Amino acid sequence: MQLWEAAATQNVNVTMCKDCVKEEFPDRGSICLDSGAYLANLNGCKLCGRKDRVQVVNKATTQEGDQEVTTFQHKCEGCEHLIATHEYCFWVEEDFQYYEMSCLLCGESDDTRSCLPDDPRMAATLF
Ligand SMILES: [Zn+2]
Ligand SMILES: [Zn+2]
Ligand SMILES: [Zn+2]
Repeated sequence: MQLWEAAATQNVNVTMCKDCVKEEFPDRGSICLDSGAYLANLNGCKLCGRKDRVQVVNKATTQEGDQEVTTFQHKCEGCEHLIATHEYCFWVEEDFQYYEMSCLLCGESDDTRSCLPDDPRMAATLF
């Protein structure tokens, strides 16, 4: 294998590109997205400068134990440059649903929601 071929192979394994985002893994609180992209954090594609749209590709959902894991990639619409890999997890524990998101572009977040119609914690804050 030629040296340049080895380098090209390594490039394929780069799944994140921090040059295209304003902030790496920004804290998003409880906003968990299993689709779309957080364009406000897109600094612009470092290769072609496009920053109004990214495409979502290779979306896949797998079951890992009790967790449902959705992953996809954010690619530049203009030049197909790979910007980030998005991971979204969902699982149920006891009476609660758990959500978790991790993405260089969209950020990191987690959320918990009660499966019951009346969330006792919501009632506690209301009254
Ligand atoms: Zn980039
Ligand atoms: Zn681009
Ligand atoms: Zn994302």
